[in-house]
Amino acid sequence: MNEQFETVIGLEVHAQLTTRSKMFCRCGSDYASAPPNSRVCPVCLGMPGVLPTINRRAIENTILTALALNCSIPANAKFDRKNYSYPDLVKGYQISQYDQPFGLGGWICIEAEGRNRRLGITRVHLEEDVCKLLHRDGFSLVDANRSGVPLMEIVSEPDMRSPAEARNYLIKLRSILRYLGVSLANMEEGSFRCDANISIRPRGSSELRAKVEVKNMNSLKAVYRALEYETARQYKLVMEGKKLAQETRGWVDEKGKTVSQRSKEYAHDYRYFPEPDLPPLEIDREWVELIKKRMPELPDERSNRFISQYGLSEYDARVLTASKETADYYEKVASLSKQQPKEVANWITGPASSIVNAEVIDFEAFEYSIPAESFSGLLDLVGKSTISAASARTVLEDMFKTGKSAGLLVKEKGLTQISSSNELDEFASQVINANAPAVADYYKGKDQAMKFLIGQMMRLTRGRANPEMATEIIKRKLEEGK
Ligand SMILES: [Zn+2]
Repeated sequence: MNEQFETVIGLEVHAQLTTRSKMFCRCGSDYASAPPNSRVCPVCLGMPGVLPTINRRAIENTILTALALNCSIPANAKFDRKNYSYPDLVKGYQISQYDQPFGLGGWICIEAEGRNRRLGITRVHLEEDVCKLLHRDGFSLVDANRSGVPLMEIVSEPDMRSPAEARNYLIKLRSILRYLGVSLANMEEGSFRCDANISIRPRGSSELRAKVEVKNMNSLKAVYRALEYETARQYKLVMEGKKLAQETRGWVDEKGKTVSQRSKEYAHDYRYFPEPDLPPLEIDREWVELIKKRMPELPDERSNRFISQYGLSEYDARVLTASKETADYYEKVASLSKQQPKEVANWITGPASSIVNAEVIDFEAFEYSIPAESFSGLLDLVGKSTISAASARTVLEDMFKTGKSAGLLVKEKGLTQISSSNELDEFASQVINANAPAVADYYKGKDQAMKFLIGQMMRLTRGRANPEMATEIIKRKLEEGK
């Protein structure tokens, strides 16, 4: 953006709840690998004359989420009908919440572009998911397995000022939902969906301009790209003196642009009214207290604990606690290893994370290949100087591929670190004889030459030379040769 204008972004996130049954019937909500239309009954098919019953667990998980997002829990809540017609909506209305949701007025703290930001949460409410439409060979097919799955909607205040802030808000929210264990929160699989409202306005002004709603973003990357695109598009129109339309636009990932879909609906278009088949709810304070007791340690608290308990930097603590699986794995290894917690953190955020990222898995899956005991075994070999850190990296990769222990791989590959001065002496002589120009540079006082010679020594020993000893011996030999 520029000096004159600022971007205003608000996000609406829909997260499917991982309850056993659907929101208003007893059908299973675990439809991911179920055959189409196999998790259905008259209620979630929207047959006339049926009555919905409320899933208590879904409400508890919504209240738990609202509490984790620092919302207040109103004393009264109710369900409303949101009326609209679309082929994925079996009843012609969706049971949702309009003016009395389960959570109001919370916030999330994030870090983006070097700034800490506290972003407002307007509300958290509960509704039912709709069917899935599949378009194939000129036909549109309806799969009702998803119809009626509990769906939580989390609406933010228009507090974000850049696509990066929006992305980091989503990352933090996803992390919190996963820590709570209430949702799989997977964007690519559709259990975590995001619509964005975006507008631009003169910097410092508080006026609300025509909002553009952007839909169809199926990954964090897509959200970021769509918001970047939309910011630029709107800025250009404003600069040309054109008026922006209030509309809904869809993100087309392959083309890297948004296209107009329809003019945006207003709340009155939905003709909301209280759901006549469900009673209004009084949210008992004792019940809220009971739900609060289920609250696990959340990412921010865990990060602070990592700093005080393990002496980690704020950065390391934040990286390790961003995902629950990573934090769990770290704590297991740190408790088993004789290495310093900081050293363990370096191995987890460095070489281990490289493998996790390259394989597109998480640390839970990583642990199947390398249990915490094995990882700590590897680190202890480094600690005892049995192998060099460079060798340990290779061993780690082999452990992941083969499932073998560090000790066994070190033996098989003959990676034991060379710490015998006689052997190292021999290698050092070879390196010095083979690299006369570098030796000459060293005598001229060039520090780089020394680094180069040590590098050659590591190459010659395939990373097995004890680096401190190797440095010392090369230095000594060079001084002798002066
Ligand atoms: Zn059902």
